[in-house]
Amino acid sequence: MLDVDEALQRVLENARPRPAARVPLSDSLGLILAEDVASDIDSPPYDKSMVDGYAVRAADLVHGRADLELLEEIMAGAVPTKAVAAGTCSRIMTGAPIPDEANAVVMQEHTELIGGTARERIRISDEPPRPGQNILRKGASLRRGDVVLHGGRLIWPAEIGMLAEVGRAEALAIPRVRVAVLSTGNELVAAGKIPAAGQIRNSNGPMLLAAVRQAGAEPVDLGIARDEHAPLRERLAEGLKCDLLIVSGGVSTGVLDLVPGLLTTLGVGEVFHRIRMKPGKPLWFGVRGDDATGPTLIFGLPGNPVSSFVCFELFVKPAIAKSSGRGSGAGHRTTPARLTSAFTHRGDRPTYHPAVLKTSDPTAAPTVTPLRWVGSADLRGLVDANALIVFPAGDRLFAAGEIVEVKRLVEFSEER
Ligand code: AMP
Ligand code: MG
Repeated sequence: MLDVDEALQRVLENARPRPAARVPLSDSLGLILAEDVASDIDSPPYDKSMVDGYAVRAADLVHGRADLELLEEIMAGAVPTKAVAAGTCSRIMTGAPIPDEANAVVMQEHTELIGGTARERIRISDEPPRPGQNILRKGASLRRGDVVLHGGRLIWPAEIGMLAEVGRAEALAIPRVRVAVLSTGNELVAAGKIPAAGQIRNSNGPMLLAAVRQAGAEPVDLGIARDEHAPLRERLAEGLKCDLLIVSGGVSTGVLDLVPGLLTTLGVGEVFHRIRMKPGKPLWFGVRGDDATGPTLIFGLPGNPVSSFVCFELFVKPAIAKSSGRGSGAGHRTTPARLTSAFTHRGDRPTYHPAVLKTSDPTAAPTVTPLRWVGSADLRGLVDANALIVFPAGDRLFAAGEIVEVKRLVEFSEER
């Protein structure tokens, strides 16, 4: 049996970033950019007004006050038609191009329209404007040819805005990893059903699909398969078309644990089966082929929901991260925390125990409180957790105040 660290290493050795492809901006959030991106324009592309007001010649306003003849109104999207000669001004909106010969914009709030004359005049009462006031010069933000984003960067909303500004409707990026989720078990019924005798609801399917999405990948729902050779094999074959396949259940030592055998007949090579941890001991991991889009990684997660969840956190998530070009993420990184109460751990395997981590006092070490948890089937004990305490193998009493290692479930908020 492999240790957790060895097993993770095997997983990561087999994961590799998907080949880069053109991805529409609307689907690029969270992906890794795969090229340097240069601008095809100066930005702004012309001198533009930063405020709503009047474009003036600063020289006309050396005392801050003047009555100026109004030439025209320049809206954003329009082009000025008149140069601002001495004694005149043009009304201008935020984002509109500055007319020739104007060199400052006075804010609307410091002006008033003087009525009653044949041509409209504007009275301005302000500080004497600085030349350039309220004008953003052409190219002030960036120049054509500037590299605005470097390859390797995580695409977040600001990056998407930047790509759009420089004319990219698509980004060359590591495409979103497609992850199929298949739940196996004759006892399973969908969440909307009332279980009959001997049946339980499929909690892993929805949970794992959500975990896949949260990890930045695209979930592909393969539903529930019965523990029967033909239909199960067919569904597994379907899942192998994705970059990753997660199968829940059917990887233990039961009579109907058919998954490893069937995967082998489908050309999947076993990398390991069973690891020294609790929950999650029966974890199965294999790889198939290396076609144009890279290898398919297959995780057989034990059916008990907390086992599935913990194996996803420890192994599937880093595999998704690496396949997405993001590195392997936090991996198994743990942080030390002080136990708030005594706890007896029993077991010959390292145990990942649901817990509440509190880091609210920045001057003190984080504290951690183990939750009531009755084992790998107890999802209820997990929902209040924001962390897992990693108790080392062996029977031992941990005293209150002792330091233990904790793995954060980072997406969960502290308050839980
Ligand atoms: P298995 O790994 O198939 O031996 O299943 C181990 C335990 O997990 C059994 O008690 C199953 O009923 C339960 N189980 C398997 N699959 C699921 C699932 N999708 N949702 C909830 N429980 C499951
Ligand atoms: Mg089963």
